[in-house]
Amino acid sequence: MSNCIFCKIVSGDIPAEIIHENDDLLVFRDLNPQAPTHALVIPRRHIATLNDMQAEDAELIGKMHLAAKAVAEQEGIADAGYRTVFNCNAGAGQTVYHIHLHVLGGRPMSWPPG
Ligand code: ADP
Repeated sequence: MSNCIFCKIVSGDIPAEIIHENDDLLVFRDLNPQAPTHALVIPRRHIATLNDMQAEDAELIGKMHLAAKAVAEQEGIADAGYRTVFNCNAGAGQTVYHIHLHVLGGRPMSWPPG
């Protein structure tokens, strides 16, 4: 999508600090980090929200979580603990409508989230 900020990161038109990538997805540091490690896992293909995921996307969802695990290990937060979050739609705080899996860690996490 031409007006999607994360599609522009995929195409290289907007810079990002990419820390992991493969044929299906990329992972980059969040511009406004909410924890010492805050990365976003995004598919290269434009998908607006979790509601738009279909049965045939099951493997992609799995790969996104495996990428989150790889990044947690890379960042040294895997054993201490980290959180993965999909915010779906405005009521959950989604502001960028290209699906992304937040990976947050490096500090204690409270529950419930705000
Ligand atoms: P929220 O903005 O409430 O966290 P989302 O769940 O949609 O909502 O998350 C979008 C995330 O994308 C935010 O954490 C924001 O800081 C991040 N972000 C927006 N633009 C960029 C960018 N150009 N590079 C890196 N991260 C970005």
